Amino acid sequence: MGPEELFLVVVALLPVAAASGWYFGRREAMRGGLERAGGSTMSPDYFRGLNYLLHDRPDKAIEVFLKVLEVEADTVETHLALGSLFRRRGEVDRAIRIHQNLVARPTLEASQRALALLELGLDYMRSGLFDRAESLFAELLDIGMYEQQALRHLVDIYQQEQDWDKAIEFSRRLEAATGENLNSVRAHFLCEKAQAELDHNPRADVQELLDQALSTDRKCVRASLMVADLSFAKGEYERTIQALKKVEHQDLDFLPEVVPRLIKAYRAVERIDDLCDYLASLAALRAGISPVLALAELTAERVGEEVAKRYIINELKIRPTIRGIDRLIDYALTNAGGESREDLLLLKETALRLIAGKASYKCGNCGFAGRAMHWQCPSCKSWNTVKPIHGIEGE
Ligand SMILES: [Zn+2]
Repeated sequence: MGPEELFLVVVALLPVAAASGWYFGRREAMRGGLERAGGSTMSPDYFRGLNYLLHDRPDKAIEVFLKVLEVEADTVETHLALGSLFRRRGEVDRAIRIHQNLVARPTLEASQRALALLELGLDYMRSGLFDRAESLFAELLDIGMYEQQALRHLVDIYQQEQDWDKAIEFSRRLEAATGENLNSVRAHFLCEKAQAELDHNPRADVQELLDQALSTDRKCVRASLMVADLSFAKGEYERTIQALKKVEHQDLDFLPEVVPRLIKAYRAVERIDDLCDYLASLAALRAGISPVLALAELTAERVGEEVAKRYIINELKIRPTIRGIDRLIDYALTNAGGESREDLLLLKETALRLIAGKASYKCGNCGFAGRAMHWQCPSCKSWNTVKPIHGIEGE
């Protein structure tokens, strides 16, 4: 339990303490000791609970406080505070019980009831009971209270349920309520919808959805890559190339995703000169090693390894990367024999070990790292924050 929660509990207890004789019993308490302090209702449990809290035994404290509340629960704020405390501690069933009791009280003020609904909705979300949470948030929208929170949670629910139409609709409503720009998130919802249709039927026509994604967020790399992949599958290679060329203007960080696709498409139409020209222009942007390595490989194929080697050496001087060094060792190995060959092999093994098992992608929001590309971070659930890792061990 952090200091914030400790504070919450202490504050939450104050109304109970006041309502149950703290105020009136205080003078007597000073004279007669804590056992008599509460008169008819004051309980020494408060002090036991606080004592547990202060001695960093939150579980004991909560047990005591819950017992107190069962006996003399009257105060809504205390219930709300404890409910949200339980939820944050992962004791969702207890939180649900507390909030359900509150919502069921006919005497509750409208604002308190709305808050209890919001909290109960969060409990249900936490338990994965999305349909129940959804109807509570919808009720809040109906009564016009906690609108922004309710909309935000609904967008979250529809994402988790993969109901992309509703996610799109409610993200618009959230945008209207908050003034926040959610275009890039909504473009992902449109891509998700397109992907879901393709998963259902690989021949589905999703071009319109992808066009919508791009008009919603012209920097949506994902939509460009999807257009490229779909065009490639249909043998429309020029269109593939056109879509891939957009990415350099959308987000340079994603070039490593583009390069292998470019090579396949240009090879399919046998436009290797154009491919080399384009890779050279990408390499000149200094946005990663992928275009450099691809260009080196093509150069080695067409002109010879010596030229490719000189090219890599020049690039390494500007931007050292382990993958670049590894390639250089490969070229050096071709003509090496005897002892120097042994040395080079050892160097290569060392270079490979340095990058083996390293994550290739990282979330810029929460730091999650992995070896697969995710458009939505599996950890913090942000969209568009996981990107290829750049630097000496990466791109
Ligand atoms: Zn993240």
